[in-house]
Amino acid sequence: TPGRTNVELPVLTHCPYCALQCGMAITPEAAITPRTDIPANAGGALCQKGWTAGELLTNGERLTGPLLHGRPVTWEVALDHVAGRLSRIRAEHGPDAVAVFGGGGLTNEKAYQLGKFARVALGTSQIDYNGRFCMSSAAAASTRAFGMDRGMPFPITDLAEADVVLLAGGNVAETMPPFVRHLAGPRLIVVDPRRTATAKLAWLHLQPTPGTDLALALGLLHLVVAEGLADEEYIAARTTGFDEVRTSLASWWPERVERVTGVPVARMRQAVRAMAAAGRAIVLTGRGAEQHAKGTDTVTAFINLALALGLPGTPGSGYGCVTGQGNGQGGREHGQKADQLPGYRKIDDPAAREHVAKVWGVHPDDLPGPGRSAYELLDALGTPAGPRALLLFGSNPVVSAPRSAHVSDRLGALDLLVVCDVVMSETAAMAEVVFPVTQWAEETGTMTNLEGRVLLRRKAVEPPAGVRSDLEVIRELAARLGHTWPSDPRVVFDELREASAGGLADYAGITYERIEADKGVFWPCPSPDHPGTPRPFLDRFATPDGRARFTPVEHRPAAEEIDEDYPVYLTTGRVLAHYQSGAQTRRIAPLAEAVAEPFVELHPDLAEELRIDAGDMVRVSSRRGQTQGAARISDAIRRDTVFMPFHWEGANRLTNPALDPTSRMPEFKVCAVKVERVA
Ligand code: SF4
Repeated sequence: TPGRTNVELPVLTHCPYCALQCGMAITPEAAITPRTDIPANAGGALCQKGWTAGELLTNGERLTGPLLHGRPVTWEVALDHVAGRLSRIRAEHGPDAVAVFGGGGLTNEKAYQLGKFARVALGTSQIDYNGRFCMSSAAAASTRAFGMDRGMPFPITDLAEADVVLLAGGNVAETMPPFVRHLAGPRLIVVDPRRTATAKLAWLHLQPTPGTDLALALGLLHLVVAEGLADEEYIAARTTGFDEVRTSLASWWPERVERVTGVPVARMRQAVRAMAAAGRAIVLTGRGAEQHAKGTDTVTAFINLALALGLPGTPGSGYGCVTGQGNGQGGREHGQKADQLPGYRKIDDPAAREHVAKVWGVHPDDLPGPGRSAYELLDALGTPAGPRALLLFGSNPVVSAPRSAHVSDRLGALDLLVVCDVVMSETAAMAEVVFPVTQWAEETGTMTNLEGRVLLRRKAVEPPAGVRSDLEVIRELAARLGHTWPSDPRVVFDELREASAGGLADYAGITYERIEADKGVFWPCPSPDHPGTPRPFLDRFATPDGRARFTPVEHRPAAEEIDEDYPVYLTTGRVLAHYQSGAQTRRIAPLAEAVAEPFVELHPDLAEELRIDAGDMVRVSSRRGQTQGAARISDAIRRDTVFMPFHWEGANRLTNPALDPTSRMPEFKVCAVKVERVA
């Protein structure tokens, strides 16, 4: 344009929400268009959350200044207050009296810096994050089987080339709709107690009783063995432990599995025959299979099935976890987990401690050991033996934690709660100090999507005056505790690369420039001249002997089964219009209009028995609390089960915090409830 020299082009970046991390272009006016150069978008798709993400940037409920006891104060006052209170609490009660809680939506740089802040500046072992509630069972099972957890260890485009995809416990048609485009080619087998939008697209839907996915996986594997469909050559060449698993399957004959799960034997047989006949087949798990007190074993059973069919590490085939949160993959690699250091290293591994301590300029003996897992940490807050102060970044546990009313009580018992957030979430509303922070398109940082592809989210617009980034908050608090740290994301990323070098999640060869040039780089990428690793298991698995490990697992009932007092199962999940605790999406007008309130989905037979009509207000109670929602009557759900979305405060008052012994994942996906019409 004549006379106009600084024409501002749309900035290429990625969606603020889920782990697909769809590419999008955004103008300075926050107008959004999809990118076609990012494989996850499948040729330029976005869901309604992505299309409306610009409204997050202009939202009228945005926090624009720090709050102390609900009153506006300057940044200096708020930071000095927090640093002073932290120092006094630490001096009086020791370093573990201060806890840190992170989030799976934080950039890699933030996740890294938060782990370092906790262990070096605060000296506390008490750090964990909300990703523990997300995919930790799949991560534990993948590590158990393959020696490494990289979500989907293959590019997402492999899905379209597969002949069969089995998806256990994932409703991608609602949670990440562009994912469905990748499923247009293969025969889709869906395992889900509900006939979800995804199950309606399936060639075959297996609809087990909630909490019985593990038994179903055992039944499928039993059939593979009984019908001689196992890939014996692959098993001999690439795995260990199959004989033990084969023996353990003996009692899981199909008719018994049908009795336990409610899935007809004929359907199970149809599934395994299709998978065995496929040239390329992929097994995927989502939260439905993972969020159980036996989640790690459930995913292990599906991995055993995949291994018996010779899928993992075979080109075009495999097992993968469909991670949920925006940086669900990267969030679990850089040290914000209680048991972990950067590079996906174990915190109790002496070599890992030595490497990371050197990068951080401290002595390995000064690094704390493992802390409490997310629910155990929340449960301990304000107790005599637990933390007395909590710093919380990018999470809203008042809505998202199991047995959430109890978690609110624990947060209320703290001496100090500090929350960094974009809006006044339910948890921020309880805080003594709230720091208003920048969000996705107002800052630059890297995200690692569900494929393990490291992407660059670029800054596209200026944040509102009065707002700072999480990295700046960490820098300022660290400075007040005696540490001089950077807050420039590129500088933090360079340190992360060094800290990750030689670990499983090795980012040493990844730079912002390479990500820009290559549209993302797959880890591990140990050096600048390394091409990145789209399919890490083609030659060997990350176990000491290079072989994948079969592990025998046993089905057991849910931690809480239905009974006379609580005769119906509750399962929870997401709806298309909303994301996680809803703190963001409930504030976007088109999304709030699409689904304005929580609801209770129940089968027509159950509705008739309970004299409930569509739209009636329904009370749902468990042993932990009660909530209400409008009745939605649908034959897509089993007669013995009701469904509630978890985007509003309420559903998680009911859920059961029984923990998986390995992953410490709470049993979000099944508990026993009573359902009544509200008079
Ligand atoms: Fe964003 Fe996920 Fe929707 Fe893509 S699918 S637009 S990443 S919320």
